[in-house]
Amino acid sequence: MNYIELIERLKKVTPEDYEFEARVLIETFTDYKMSYIFSHRDEQIVGEALEKALQRRENREPLQYIVGKWDFYRQTYFVDENCLIPRADTEILVEKAIEILPENARFIDLCTGSGCIAISTLCERSDTQAVAVDKFEKTLDVAKKNAKLNGVEKRVDLMILDVLSEENKLDGYSFDAILSNPPYIRPEVIETLSKEVKHEPYAALWGGDDGLIFYNKIVKDYSQFLNNYGFILFEIGYDQAESLRIIADENGFNCEIIKDYAGRDRVAYLTKK
Ligand code: GLN
Repeated sequence: MNYIELIERLKKVTPEDYEFEARVLIETFTDYKMSYIFSHRDEQIVGEALEKALQRRENREPLQYIVGKWDFYRQTYFVDENCLIPRADTEILVEKAIEILPENARFIDLCTGSGCIAISTLCERSDTQAVAVDKFEKTLDVAKKNAKLNGVEKRVDLMILDVLSEENKLDGYSFDAILSNPPYIRPEVIETLSKEVKHEPYAALWGGDDGLIFYNKIVKDYSQFLNNYGFILFEIGYDQAESLRIIADENGFNCEIIKDYAGRDRVAYLTKK
């Protein structure tokens, strides 16, 4: 395979990002420098690893899982099919947390996945400590590797917990904040998502019939673990702001909505009334 053939094959998978993806695949799976590739476009690029990676991509596996690592905020994360791929959209929540967490704060990240929210916050705020929970052991293993990779493993307790269950593992805990990007997509919308997204864990997408099951549960059953000035930061879908305002109001919280860089509603900031 040469660069021109690589590009042609990738174009069919990703008509917009094929040049970027070609570069990432070459840099990850071969020893070639891009400067050399650009001036030798029809030369064979040796590498079984590249061919295998390309085949996975042609099978619509997300580039991030194939590469196995991805950047989020100012950190790098291991990612595999046991966790949602960290999204740039989620950086808005992390930025807000970094800005407003009180000194020496202790916070909890519910549905931590790769651990990106808790870990990037801990990295940027060296005075803070966290508990990060997920329902699946394999997912928590990814979060654990990421905590080590980013040097914060001593400041985060990882806990298996199904947020929707009635199991209570948090007795005696008190937090300054709940941070969460829970699954929030409705089943009929999941059907319409790209083939790439369908490689991500269904459980990390599914937000119940109305997309709100986690928000309702967390505000109702987890706000008891907040101290007096504690707050909640949720990532939300672009069309969920009104629903979050209602859930907040019904449970004695004020709700401020923060937009992402594209101008869409992205984060709900809940404080006690
Ligand atoms: N908290 C993780 C993230 O934001 C996982 C979220 C999820 O699984 N819904 O990437």
